[in-house]
Amino acid sequence: MTTTDGFAVVRTSGEFKLVAQRDFPAGSRLFGVDGQITEEPTRYSVQVGAGIHLDLPGGHAPEELMDRFFWRFTNHSCAPNAQLRGRAFFALRPIEPWQEITFHYESTEFEMAEPFDCRCGDATCFGRIQGFKFRTDDERELLRPMLADHLLAMLNVVHR
Ligand SMILES: [Zn+2]
Repeated sequence: MTTTDGFAVVRTSGEFKLVAQRDFPAGSRLFGVDGQITEEPTRYSVQVGAGIHLDLPGGHAPEELMDRFFWRFTNHSCAPNAQLRGRAFFALRPIEPWQEITFHYESTEFEMAEPFDCRCGDATCFGRIQGFKFRTDDERELLRPMLADHLLAMLNVVHR
């Protein structure tokens, strides 16, 4: 387990995940995201703007990856407790110690480098997670409350 400020990266059943280590109220800032800017998404990048992705820079020791880039261990959920706003994650609802921090990958990613089949089991589960680009108008409305600014702007244009 690696501890950072208020968060820990843990590994259970071979899967890494990011968990809270204290209470975070709804709406509070959780942590910022930082990395190397790329124009194309990768397996680990997060999209923070139109054509702007933050990826892990190469050449860093594992300890530094865990400490500085721990955001990349934030897993997907179709019923997440966090959302990206600007270049930081914020709590969508109250988060308690040891709860996993998750966000909806399609709330930030327009088209994912590595789509996958979600098995979160939530009633709102989209199944195949591949990017906002592939969602229907109704599905995009479901995502609206958690959308990052660059996708929200796109949604507003579509409906104008
Ligand atoms: Zn799901």
